[in-house]
Amino acid sequence: MRLMRILGGFILAGLAFANLGAQEKQVAKPVKAVRFGKLWDAKGKVWNNAIVIVEGDRIRAVTTDASAIPAAAEVIDLSRYTGLPGLIDVHTHMTMYTDETSGEPMLKQLTISPPAVEVFLARKGALRTLESGVTTVRDLGADQYMDIAMRDLINRGEMIGPRMFVCGYGLYITATPFKKEGTPPAGGIADGVPEVLKAVRQQIAAGADVIKMYGSTGTDDDVTGFETYTYEEMKAAVETAHQFGKKIAIHSYGPDGARDAVRAGADSVEHATDMDDATIQDMVKRGTFYVPTIDHNRYYLDNGDKIGYAPGYKEKLQAFIPRNLETAQRAFRAGVKIAMGSDAIYTMFGQNTRELGWFVKAGMTPEQALQTATVNGAALLGKEKELGAVAAGYFADLVAVQGDPLADISVTLNNVKWVMKGGEVLVNKSGH
Ligand SMILES: [Zn+2]
Repeated sequence: MRLMRILGGFILAGLAFANLGAQEKQVAKPVKAVRFGKLWDAKGKVWNNAIVIVEGDRIRAVTTDASAIPAAAEVIDLSRYTGLPGLIDVHTHMTMYTDETSGEPMLKQLTISPPAVEVFLARKGALRTLESGVTTVRDLGADQYMDIAMRDLINRGEMIGPRMFVCGYGLYITATPFKKEGTPPAGGIADGVPEVLKAVRQQIAAGADVIKMYGSTGTDDDVTGFETYTYEEMKAAVETAHQFGKKIAIHSYGPDGARDAVRAGADSVEHATDMDDATIQDMVKRGTFYVPTIDHNRYYLDNGDKIGYAPGYKEKLQAFIPRNLETAQRAFRAGVKIAMGSDAIYTMFGQNTRELGWFVKAGMTPEQALQTATVNGAALLGKEKELGAVAAGYFADLVAVQGDPLADISVTLNNVKWVMKGGEVLVNKSGH
């Protein structure tokens, strides 16, 4: 039945295409021309007085020639601002949005809300994420396939939010304290190679875009980093994901899980504090991405009481953050590819790009920091020809900021004025 429908769809599409001919111009997609005072295109060029011509959801051209603007185009004048590509956050938990109004610790809210309520509430976090200039996320762990529902609702235009690439359940071993006061989502538990293979295949069958594996302990105020999965289990997960053309992110708070994740061929390692230099060299050699997620520890430190952490969390996080930063610094100096991931959860949405401030502290220039949230994020998603740059053929994901983001990274963190995703203006504080 489904096959018949698909075939039917192809036949109809074919007929429609055959009919197009002379009428093509009348059914043309809407054209917009967006003017920026300056534009950083993430392809190595800063344009003055740039005009980005957008057709439907894609960029048709980037030019400085005003005569290239089609007569029918809607002109959006952002010449007071600097343009950037839509930013990419490669580590979020979009469905784990909470607020501070219910009187419940946020940690508990996540365990008591039914999935439909969580997905509905998550639209607020999705909007805040867009307002921070993030138009694409890689979402790394959700319960009951809420992430797949949310991705599909956004793609259908029923929810406003960033483009999502999702993993379904992250894989973790039995007895990992995923949430101390909660119930681990049963869908992701897998022990031993056969169960790992099954769990990876289940996520892919459910519609996951990417695979996530928890390769060590550590989450929230738990900053331990004991390796959980064996090298053989990691290797099995990596091979199965790659067999189906999916990338895999492996979480490790500590160095042992990171070493085995890299050796097993993971596409990215998340958190990975205290990595040894041999692991870092292995990442350079293999092209493994590092997603340090330093700022989420800062968020936990600032909000631990509201989240509901036990006393003592401050000391643990205060000791962990400098080690996380130091690891990022060593990895960056060694030439490891780094991608920006916020690990946004609870009320952290909207603070997605604060990680870039840590990257500058780790020694990056503002431009290098912006690359982690554009070209590097796109490459980690395998979407380097469509996302993360302002160039012909790419998705029309554009951000306008007030000030010079190449001189001062805080411009990107604090001064986002306007956001377009797939040719649609979704955030507008520009006064235009
Ligand atoms: Zn995470």
